[in-house]
Amino acid sequence: MAASKLIVLGSVNADHVLQVDTFPRPGETVIGHGYQVLPGGKGANQAVAAARLGADIGFIACVGDDDFGHRMIERFNEDGMETSAVMAVEGLPTGIALIQIAASGENSISISAEANAALTPEVLAPHMTMLTQAETVLMQLESPFETIELAARTVRKAGGRVVLNPAPARALPDSLLAELDMITPNETEAEMLTGVGVETEADARKAADILHDKGVGVVLITLGEKGAYVSSSEGARLVEGYSVTAVDTTAAGDTFNGALVTALQQGKSMDDAILFAHAAAAISVTRLGAQPSIPRLEEVTVFMK
Ligand code: ADP
Repeated sequence: MAASKLIVLGSVNADHVLQVDTFPRPGETVIGHGYQVLPGGKGANQAVAAARLGADIGFIACVGDDDFGHRMIERFNEDGMETSAVMAVEGLPTGIALIQIAASGENSISISAEANAALTPEVLAPHMTMLTQAETVLMQLESPFETIELAARTVRKAGGRVVLNPAPARALPDSLLAELDMITPNETEAEMLTGVGVETEADARKAADILHDKGVGVVLITLGEKGAYVSSSEGARLVEGYSVTAVDTTAAGDTFNGALVTALQQGKSMDDAILFAHAAAAISVTRLGAQPSIPRLEEVTVFMK
């Protein structure tokens, strides 16, 4: 089998989703409705976005040895991705997310890694050639940190492009930042990484410069409905997004990241890739759920006309 040009390394979760009017306060019980179990996990969402949007993509992940995990592998295959490195781990459940969605469209999420924690450097070892042969590798922070560091170092050394979506938010060591060609935090994550609260374009400039100083080539800060701020050696600018009515913003950032690397991998300019990612993400926020909300290429093409 030919090596996939784009590799996503990351998490797979079963998303247990409940609609609520408002989030419960500590000690409070609220009545929810519309309970569903939907496929999620930042890694899987980004991999599915890339696959549906036409990328030649391989996914590296661990699922549980349970019904949900096995069904997920089938679905990834149906979406057209290479799944030889999606491993079902004996004795562990698939990762889980408990998601509440308020009437406002905001979400509140608790996650537990479960099988995702099994993606250790040792478990990754048999799949290293997928990384060394890739042109671009996209990762997030729901996998063991040593694995992310090892993968970044390996891809960099082999001459591939390392893209990190630093979510969920946490501080990162300079040693990892120095290995990144591109980082794509949202406002919260950018603040966690740099200590700069990102509210204005000037704030984004300041946060981006801190990350450039640590060796990151391209800094792209997603700003929700305001769009995205991108900064590189070619300059810095705000690229506005599309205006839509948000129903559920779960996986907006994931859809954006999967779409962005797909477009860049296919040779689009940075601005065109961002616009394509904005369109895919805007469609996803008009629908419920993580993976079910991720559009296919044809839909994005029609949306952008
Ligand atoms: P995250 O989901 O990681 O918090 P953001 O909220 O910054 O990330 O959103 C990522 C991208 O999703 C944005 O850059 C934009 O393209 C799109 N997006 C998010 N929210 C909206 C919205 N309300 N309307 C239109 N596009 C949105």
